[in-house]
Amino acid sequence: MKALVTGAAGFIGSHLAERLVDAGVTVVGIDCFTDNYARPLKERNLQRLRQAPRFSLIERPLAEADLPALLDDVTHVFHLAAQPGVRNSWGRDFRVYTVNNVEATQLLLEACIGKPVERVVYASSSSVYGDEVPLPMREDVRPQPVSPYGVTKLAAEQLCYLYHVSHSVPTVSLRYFTVYGPRQRPDMGFARFFSAVTQDRAVPMFGDGRQTRDFTFVADAVTATIAAAMRGKPGGVYNIGGGSRVQLLHVFELIRQVTGRPLRVERLEPQRGDMRDTYADTTRARADLGFAPTVTLEQGLRAQYEWMTAGHD
Ligand code: NAD
Repeated sequence: MKALVTGAAGFIGSHLAERLVDAGVTVVGIDCFTDNYARPLKERNLQRLRQAPRFSLIERPLAEADLPALLDDVTHVFHLAAQPGVRNSWGRDFRVYTVNNVEATQLLLEACIGKPVERVVYASSSSVYGDEVPLPMREDVRPQPVSPYGVTKLAAEQLCYLYHVSHSVPTVSLRYFTVYGPRQRPDMGFARFFSAVTQDRAVPMFGDGRQTRDFTFVADAVTATIAAAMRGKPGGVYNIGGGSRVQLLHVFELIRQVTGRPLRVERLEPQRGDMRDTYADTTRARADLGFAPTVTLEQGLRAQYEWMTAGHD
């Protein structure tokens, strides 16, 4: 296997690249260090990879890379590069999302035409679903995103399907449900909650706290991603959820237990673009990919907290 990992300096991409390198795979990473969070944090994600002889990094936006040349001897593509985050996708910055999530995906797919790649795994999102679908969420319902970010992730997913149908590019889309663990992006919930508690600041709670999320530990997401590259059905879409669906209020309770510190909550208005609930039906991923999450929410939160308190926040 030779892998191309886009977004390799990011939270999930760096964990994925490490797992691949550890398994003896040659990995070419590509990342342009977008400013969605500070570059030193992305450099830190790469620290171990930079020592690995089987890893190399191309620092460039996908749109400026010679993708056809890069793909010449690549067997598996993992496409994780994107502008993530729902709340900032409103307003004038939407173009950042269309460029990095939609246009970059189309260029990558175009470059894959006629190449001997065995799979192109695309990191989609539970954000494609929106609030109108029945729970648990199944892949065959009609997605109706409630954020501009979700629209771009769905558009790129549709491009993957289109390039599969029309050009036989063997794409597989994974709808990740809230991924967490060491290196979680600083704008994401758990990272913000832990730093608020350790710095004795109030934790903002948008809405009544009864909204639910299906949380996925990053190692489980990585395992699913590699399984999708091996066994995913070309043209397919899979939910990847950790099976730990809980209310936000319960998360706060766990954070109190894990940190052993009090947690002050500041209640704020619900945010536009935030889904009310997410809950993955993972029947399809279990059947086709053998996906079975292994890390409970409490174990995963402990791992993330230990990583943060070891000087990584
Ligand atoms: P991240 O921001 O940590 O990683 C994304 C990386 O992609 C960044 O390092 C960024 O610099 C890079 N990048 C962005 N646009 C690029 C471009 N045009 N060219 C080259 N590099 C580019 O985010 P993450 O949380 O690791 O998310 C990874 C993927 O998973 C994204 O596609 C995201 O939409 C998806 N996803 C994440 C979650 C989650 O909970 N973290 C949930 C659902 C889906």
